[in-house]
Amino acid sequence: MDVSTMTIREAREKMEAGELTSEALVKSCLERIKADNDDLHIMLSVDEQALEQARKIDERRAAGESLGPLAGIPVALKDNLLVEGWEVTAAAQVLEGHISSYDATVVSRLKKAGAILIGRTNMDDAAMGSSTETSHYGPTKNPWDRTKVPGGSSGGSAAAVAAGFVPVALGSDTGGSVRQPASLCGVVGLKPTYGRVSRYGLIALASSLDQIGPLTRTVEDAATVLEVIEGRDEHDATSVELSNTTVPELLEKDLTGMTLGLPKEYFIEGMDPEVKKAVMEAVAELEHAGAKIVDVSLPHAEYALAAYYIIMPAEASSNLGRFDGLRYGYHSSGKDLQDTYSRSRGEGFGTEVKRRIMLGSYTLSAGYYDAYYRKALKVRSLIKKDFDEALKTVDAIVTPTSPSVAWGIGEKFNDPLTMYLSDIYTISANLATVPALSIPCGFSDGLPIGLQIMGKPFDEHTLLRIGAVYQQKTDWHTKTPA
Ligand code: GLN
Repeated sequence: MDVSTMTIREAREKMEAGELTSEALVKSCLERIKADNDDLHIMLSVDEQALEQARKIDERRAAGESLGPLAGIPVALKDNLLVEGWEVTAAAQVLEGHISSYDATVVSRLKKAGAILIGRTNMDDAAMGSSTETSHYGPTKNPWDRTKVPGGSSGGSAAAVAAGFVPVALGSDTGGSVRQPASLCGVVGLKPTYGRVSRYGLIALASSLDQIGPLTRTVEDAATVLEVIEGRDEHDATSVELSNTTVPELLEKDLTGMTLGLPKEYFIEGMDPEVKKAVMEAVAELEHAGAKIVDVSLPHAEYALAAYYIIMPAEASSNLGRFDGLRYGYHSSGKDLQDTYSRSRGEGFGTEVKRRIMLGSYTLSAGYYDAYYRKALKVRSLIKKDFDEALKTVDAIVTPTSPSVAWGIGEKFNDPLTMYLSDIYTISANLATVPALSIPCGFSDGLPIGLQIMGKPFDEHTLLRIGAVYQQKTDWHTKTPA
């Protein structure tokens, strides 16, 4: 039995059958972490109490108690999800040493479902980045090739699943940060519809774009986790009461009756030919499974990146205003209050974060608001309309997740525009607030390739069904790094 490749479903079945204890499962995760974390640099911390909690779950199971859907399952959390009593920092120096005083809603829901919280995963500084290299604690390595980045900003969470540390991790996705690292690390990543999962207790990046989502080995596992974390929460006014809170029968035999759209604007130059080849093969597989494939158009796709890099920094600059060096984390005393703010923020924020605070403050300032911010909001509406129109004629839209496979650590680090371009296929789903799933669909030079499936708002079920059927017919998701 290899626990490092085990899915939630397998672990649950083995625990229910009495063939595996949560203690043994957690122990083996901790051993994997111990053996490889120094080199891969995935976990920022490991919770000492995890084993004790696993034992408690085993005792409750032995006593015949009815347990939640994630009972005894180890879960890793991106370092921007608050857990009461844990140091949680968004991998930002400005929050170093900050101890959370409450649980994020997703965290309390995981706990209630019986999950064992293993520890915090590395990420880009304040979730700004696509490679996990901007982390205050240094980069994470891609388990498939340790000279490559794992993607970002949830690179630690994706790498944790790929490296066999845990069967599931949570990440957050503002412009692709769950899906892009999932793609680069060969795992499943889901960004739910904006409003499906409560953002309470997520350290905010851009509040109109942020969503929390699972990274897993199988689509079915992603659905299991979604069911646990989703739904209305009184602490987040944008969270929605779901009419169907369950994700039923994913394992339908085929996709007969379904129409999938290929947006012609996505298959343009700049895409690695190997990525294109793998994606087109995956599309053929979906067609073979009964889906009808048609062309669709998302005419404003080419403006998505520009609109995102106005809206996201504007919201981020405002959200990050709360890190004043007095109430939380990093503090640097100056000669007066103004000097203290300026030192604390100047020293505490990283280069990428400062770049975005400046961009955001600029585009929100009087005189530039109309020229940039308001215009970007208008573009956002047009992008949303493109999706509404296209999704009237198709059940889902299929694209690559990332234009390339994982690149070398350091390769794009000093070139922010090239780095931003790696999110070209993912950001539209955040701007349009639609759900999007990334699943492994092949390899190029031993590095994973991801297929992205985007759908109608709150229709995660269709995406998960397509993904689950694909995983029944292929075995990309069962491959693991040497
Ligand atoms: N890579 C994108 C950015 O740097 C997305 C980040 C995210 O989704 N958190 O903004």
